[in-house]
This record gives sequence, C-alpha cells and structure tokens, in this order.
Amino acid sequence: MQYDYIIVGAGSAGCVLADRLSASGQHRVLLLEAGGSDWHPFIHMPAGLAKLVSNQSINWNYNTEPEPNLNNRRLYWPRGKVLGGSSSINAMCYIRGQRADYDAWAAAGNPGWSFAEVLPLFRRSEANTRGTDALHGDAGPLSVDDLKHTNPLSHAFVDAAQQAGYPRNEDFNGAEQAGFGFYQVTQRNGQRWSTAAGYLKRAKERANFTLMTGAQVLRIRFDHDRAVGLDVRIGKHIERFETSGEILLSGGAINSPQLLMLSGIGPADHLRHHGIGVRMDLPGVGANLHDHLDICVLQRCTQKITYDHPNDAAVALKYLFTRSGLGTSNVAEAGGFAVSRHASDGRPDLQFHFVPAMLDDHGRNRLPGYGFTMHGCALRPKSRGHLELASSDPLAKPRIYANYLSEPEDLKLLVECVRISRDIFAQPALVPFAGDEYLPGKDVNSTPEIESFIRRKAETIYHPVGTCKMGQDASAVVDAQLRVRGIDGLRVIDASIMPTLVSGNTNAPTVMIAEKASDLILNQYLRAAA
Ligand SMILES: Cc1cc2nc3c(=O)[nH]c(=O)nc-3n(C[C@H](O)[C@H](O)[C@H](O)COP(=O)(O)OP(=O)(O)OC[C@H]3O[C@@H](n4cnc5c(N)ncnc54)[C@H](O)[C@@H]3O)c2cc1C
Repeated sequence: MQYDYIIVGAGSAGCVLADRLSASGQHRVLLLEAGGSDWHPFIHMPAGLAKLVSNQSINWNYNTEPEPNLNNRRLYWPRGKVLGGSSSINAMCYIRGQRADYDAWAAAGNPGWSFAEVLPLFRRSEANTRGTDALHGDAGPLSVDDLKHTNPLSHAFVDAAQQAGYPRNEDFNGAEQAGFGFYQVTQRNGQRWSTAAGYLKRAKERANFTLMTGAQVLRIRFDHDRAVGLDVRIGKHIERFETSGEILLSGGAINSPQLLMLSGIGPADHLRHHGIGVRMDLPGVGANLHDHLDICVLQRCTQKITYDHPNDAAVALKYLFTRSGLGTSNVAEAGGFAVSRHASDGRPDLQFHFVPAMLDDHGRNRLPGYGFTMHGCALRPKSRGHLELASSDPLAKPRIYANYLSEPEDLKLLVECVRISRDIFAQPALVPFAGDEYLPGKDVNSTPEIESFIRRKAETIYHPVGTCKMGQDASAVVDAQLRVRGIDGLRVIDASIMPTLVSGNTNAPTVMIAEKASDLILNQYLRAAA
C-alpha cells in the first residue's frame, strides 16, 4: 500500500497531523504508533494521572544516565507510549509560553515562527470554554477548560501568593504571564482532552486515513537522499511501508533523534562507532537536549483535606456517575510565574505548580500523613545535554545525558524557587493549614545547604526538547519548514524541534508546531500541484 504521508508516533504532534492531513480526503495518510489504544480509564479520568506515571504498559519509562551535578542520580523520565502519547499521561496544564520565546525562534533564523505568526495557530487549535478573543479560540479541536474541582488548599495557596506580593493572574496565556492563579486544563466536561481525543478521533472517521497501533518504527529506508519507506515491527514481524510523499517523524524528543540515528542521520563518528552507515552527518541530532528541572518544597498539613489518601473507590464512582469531584482534578491545580531577582529583562523566569498532596519522586514514593507541595523550575535553563544510541539495536533505549545544572545560573534560580516557595507557604492564608516543613526541612537554610538539597532531590518536570533543533546553523537538524537538512521527503514535527524551551509547559506549543507543519506540508503540495 502506498501512502502520501506516513506519520511516526500518535502523540501530541502526530495526532494533529493525522487530522489535518487527512481532512481534505485527497491524501492517503498512515499513522504508526508503537503503543496501544488509550482504553485505560485512568487516562480519561484526570486524577488518574497519579497512577499513570509509572504504568509500564503505556509509558516508555526512560531514565537518564547518572547526572554528575545531581549526585550521580539517574532521573526518571516518563513518556507516553499510547494513542495521544504524552498528552495522554500529562498533567493537562494549558500553557503557551511567552511572546518573546517565539520571537527569539524567529530571530534565530526561523522565518514564520514569531509570536504574531504562531498566535493564529494557537487560536485555531483551541476550544476555550471561556470563549474567544484576540488571544484565544473557541472552535478548535483542543478543548481548554477551567477545573471543575479544586481543593481549598489551592485557593489558600493563591491567596498566600498575593499576600507575598505577587499579582493574581486569571489567565497565564493572556496579555501577562506573571502572577499566580489556577491553571486552565486540556479537559472537556471533566475528562482529559488528549490530542487523541481532540484530533485523532476525527481522522479515524475518514476512509483515507489508516491507524496502526503496536507498530514500532525501527528504521527509515532511503532511495539515495530521499526517504521512501519504513521498517516497522508489528508483533514479531517486520513489515515495510512505502510512501511516494513524505515521512513525518513525531516520536517525541527522545525517540525522533534516536530513529534518525538508527537510520544513519546524526553525528558521523557516533554512528560509525555503532556500525551504522552514515547517510547524512548531522552533529545536532540528539544534541541541544534541555529540560525543566524541578525542585519541590513539601509542607505538612494540619488538616486532612489533602489528596494524599483519597478513597479511590468513592472518587471513581462519583466521577463515573457525575463527572465531578476529585476525579476531575489535574492535581497540579494552581501555580504561577515569577520574575526572579536574577532576571535582567523583567520576564518571568520561574514557574510554580502547587499540589495539595505530598509529592515525592513523581508520586512513586507515597509518604505517610498529609501535606502540600510546591514545584519550582527555571523557565529558560542554560544547561545543555545530549542523547546517544546505546547500540544499533532499535529496541535498546537510548542513553540520556541531561547534564542538568552544568551552568551555575540554573542552580541559582532553583535556590530562588525554594526561597519563594517557603515565603508563600509562610503567608497568613496558609497558616491555618501549615504544619512543619517536611522537605527540605527546617535545618536547611544557607545557600550551600539548599544547593545540596537540590542536588539530592531535583527531578524533571517532563519537558525535554531541542534534540532535532530547527535553525540554520551547523547544529540545526531541520529548517524552518521542519525538513531534515540534506534529505528529501523527511520532516521532524514534535517537541524535539524547539531550538529553545518555551517559558512554560510544552504540550500546547507542540500542538501549535504540528498545526503549523500541516500548513507547511499542504501548502507545499498545493504549490507542486499548481
Ligand atoms: C508526566 C508528564 C506530565 C506532563 N505535564 C504537562 C502539562 O501539564 N502540560 C503540558 O503542556 N505539558 C506537559 N507535559 C509535556 C507534554 O505532554 C509533552 O511535551 C508533549 O506531549 C510532547 O509531545 P510530542 O508529540 O513531542 O511527543 P509525545 O506526545 O511523547 O508523542 C510521541 C509518540 O510517538 C510514539 N513513538 C515514539 N517512537 C516511536 C516509534 N519508533 N514508532 C512508532 N511510534 C513511536 C510514542 O509512543 C508516542 O505516542 C508532560 C509530560 C509528561 C510525560
């Protein structure tokens, strides 16, 4: 079977492409996903995310190599392996980042990617239940809603942030990002709204669209410098799929560069080291890896109102019959953006997520008692890592060297996160609830003590990007049309193309990237047909 477009990976980006490219009915589109269907009820009930983070069957369950600046700890990196990809297991916070993020992409030699140019795509994708205005859309496939259930502690936290001197912000994607408030979430009627729910469902109804789950792409096949097909593992068999059009990699920031390297596109020496023939020497493949590193302050709560020990059966039943209650919470209900004292440009450089529960090790370490947690991260980290192949075996996990905190400024900002978290937790609005500080604990006060705590406890907040960077310099992997340099018929379209992290969570920006890519692809088709 010949397809016009073959998409690799049904994640945040891949599902958008599936819908947009199949919409006209003119193109035969195939979507290959390594994981299975998104049948699991915990995917759809938002609070189920706590149970999904280490679910082996829908998660790639990556770990970094020992991190030299984090006491040689291996950090756990969950990534979705299921329809919807990471949008099926994420915390649903809907954040776009800052205008200046996209203007910087454009200024770095990526025409078409300034905020003014991508804003229409954010608006096109969005169905915000608050309605439409100059910044928001209300008719797109990605449902954005206010939380149906919030914990009293989240309200006390937002009040406490105001008492600490931060403005209240009702819309982090509005004119100003700075301030504290409640996150809007990718949900509809209290259910998670992954890109599988929003986009893929529409594509599945079309005769010109084919979806295959349990189909892991192992390698790209070429005819000279043109990508023409894929080797795909389906069950125990390897099957070959061909295209006369384009192959679109949407495997995410870990798997897309891995697949390029397995196919001979990447740093030449590294490929030769693994006995892989070099088709295109692109040193940027797997490089420029960066992520939001996150530090949590945990406070005991004197009242049993947190989400630490819910009655799971009661939560599930209420959710099932009324689509209400704790089941609809994304848990990270409130948060905010602050300008640190190290910022020179007045832009928020810190983000916070407040959780009305004691959260340790991604929730994998259940702590006794009741408490609440503040996550803090630096929005535009300077540290850069890379990833490489462990072997030429496509089923082997790649080696991830996040190289967190290799730039001292990143550590300084995390120290500030701890101080700000403590300051907010000490405000009058939280006093009726606040018991002793659990982490880092009252004996950790000086800067070196806080730094040592960060090295011991910091974890990812799940936003790796940059490993197939868009740009024009020697380390760029794709151009501003997201075409792999030097290869025809091959694009990368997912979070890996971000040249620099956006100042916020990465799902909405990835959806925007795929919206933009679908325009680029269809416009190219129309030009060729004319
Ligand atoms: C636990 C967690 C919480 C998060 N919370 C938030 C949040 O609250 N808000 C937010 O905005 N962002 C959040 N994020 C980040 C956000 O979800 C991701 O940045 C985004 O989903 C990335 O989209 P993607 O398309 O690049 O990759 P993914 O969505 O990960 O999709 C990649 C897809 O490709 C498939 N695939 C990979 N390799 C192959 C192959 N060889 N063959 C076939 N299929 C393949 C994968 O199985 C997967 O389905 C979170 C992420 C995680 C993991």
